[in-house]
Amino acid sequence: MTDQLLPVATGRRAGRVVADELRARPLAASLTALTAVCAAAAGLIAPTVLGRLVDAVDRGKGTIWPFVWALLGAALLSAVLTGLSAVLIARLGETVLARLREKVVDRALHLPSATLDRVRGGDLLSRVGDDVAKVAEAVTSALPQVAGAGLTVLLTLVGLGALDWRLALAGMVALPLYVTALRWYLPRSAPRYAAERVAMGERSQALVSSVQGADTVHAYADEARHRAVVDDRSASALGITLGVFRLFTDFGWRMNRAEYLGLAAVLGVGFFLVRSGDVTVGAVTTAALLFHRLFGPLGLLLFTFDDVQSAGASLVRMVGVADLPDAAAAPRVRTAARPAVELRGIGHSYGGPPVLVDVDLALAPGERVALVGASGAGKTTLAGVLAGGLDPAVGQVLLDGEPVADLRAQVGLVSQEVHVFAGSLADDVRLARPDATDAEVVAALETVGAGWATAMGLDTVVGDGGRELTAPRAQQLALARLVLADPPVAVLDEATAEAGSAGARDLEDAALAATAGRTTLVVAHRLTQAARADRVVVLAAGRVVEEGTHAELVEAGGRYARLWTAWSARG
Ligand code: ADP
Ligand code: MG
Repeated sequence: MTDQLLPVATGRRAGRVVADELRARPLAASLTALTAVCAAAAGLIAPTVLGRLVDAVDRGKGTIWPFVWALLGAALLSAVLTGLSAVLIARLGETVLARLREKVVDRALHLPSATLDRVRGGDLLSRVGDDVAKVAEAVTSALPQVAGAGLTVLLTLVGLGALDWRLALAGMVALPLYVTALRWYLPRSAPRYAAERVAMGERSQALVSSVQGADTVHAYADEARHRAVVDDRSASALGITLGVFRLFTDFGWRMNRAEYLGLAAVLGVGFFLVRSGDVTVGAVTTAALLFHRLFGPLGLLLFTFDDVQSAGASLVRMVGVADLPDAAAAPRVRTAARPAVELRGIGHSYGGPPVLVDVDLALAPGERVALVGASGAGKTTLAGVLAGGLDPAVGQVLLDGEPVADLRAQVGLVSQEVHVFAGSLADDVRLARPDATDAEVVAALETVGAGWATAMGLDTVVGDGGRELTAPRAQQLALARLVLADPPVAVLDEATAEAGSAGARDLEDAALAATAGRTTLVVAHRLTQAARADRVVVLAAGRVVEEGTHAELVEAGGRYARLWTAWSARG
């Protein structure tokens, strides 16, 4: 379930993202490609020179020194180019990956908070943690090797074909055998290596636990039994290791068989071609050497296949996050001031029993609706849905009859528990609108009656490590943020904690002032707050059970009336 919350890109999409990044760096990309091709091509020089040398030996005249120098030169060139190309590929890959990583982190930071709540522990962490690390490792270690091996195989095959197609074809008889050997080995080796790791882990665990518990072991004179456990685990780990060796030996035999059969085929066909005068002995030698060169890189490709595949899966998951719409950059288009709000057929659950069931709730433009209900009724969840922090399982939120792409741009939320950010008071309020002037910040604070803030000084450091603010004051800061952000719709989740009644009254006034002129839903724990709203909606077990003005509901004598009586009796 968590996996579905964050999208995964297709392989094709991931390919396009990488290609776009490469196209944005034409010079580095073409230089890297050119170097890689040259490095693979340089590997063809030595077999060619050796072939010529064999022909010279065959003719029995001339000197061999030019061949020796050429061979040494080829070895040096090939080594330098291979190293250079590995560095360039790793660097280019790392550059592209860095861009992608930036995007992943950026998008993760802008995920709607409700999505974050649900995936933070699992999926998202593994995306920004494991996936990024896996791709990074593949880019610096596997990618240069795999790219080099792929190009080498390709160019060697081309070289073989160009030399003589009959010799090339003869060598191909080995390939099916070779692939069969690998396909025999790979599925057998992975579980054995895994079992070996487990067995070794168990062996050290038995050792460590015996030593750690040595006192107890002595006390019960239980040494012999503990020794036996350790011995037993050691024996089984050794058995598995020997099994791995046997498997590898068997695999080696299958590989060699494939290679030597192919080599024999090349030389056998070469024998007839030389006899008929079609090719020289040197050409057959070159073919045999080229053929031999295929096996190393081919094996590397097949061996790293799993790693490459899993890095690919990680890449696709990274691109999925990187492709999320950029919430920060999305223009925060505002609807008309005071839009009509409609919650239609909202249903939700957090994986357990339903928390909201088919809730319909309409707010007229500029209306203040109080939402009341027992703890656990679903009030905060419904507030989260309207504020765009939570995608409901079913249902829709409409503003002026239209669905909205990003509710958060239209709806300001003051949640039940306000987080005061570390920094100055002014910084905290300015979160809502970073470009607000000091005068605007002061005005917002005054609107919500937070005279104490200006008295304390806007530079006062609050939050972590700063002055601690009481809960009502923190709520006032959040209300000031709302005023500064000036959204057409407001959602207030009143703090559950009972403030001293004088302070609570101030806070109610502040809430009224902050939401004046906005279409507002206020989750009211203090029913005096509900009484001051235009309309009251009662939620019970996720359903709307009563709806009307305070006076109507008190008159009706239902659930709200009982709540009101109890509240009033409290004084
Ligand atoms: P209220 O605000 O009316 O007290 P809530 O909307 O907070 O109600 O919660 C409604 C129900 O959903 C409760 O049973 C609560 O335990 C459950 N709930 C709320 N948030 C979560 C969550 N993040 N994960 C799982 N269950 C939740
Ligand atoms: Mg709540």
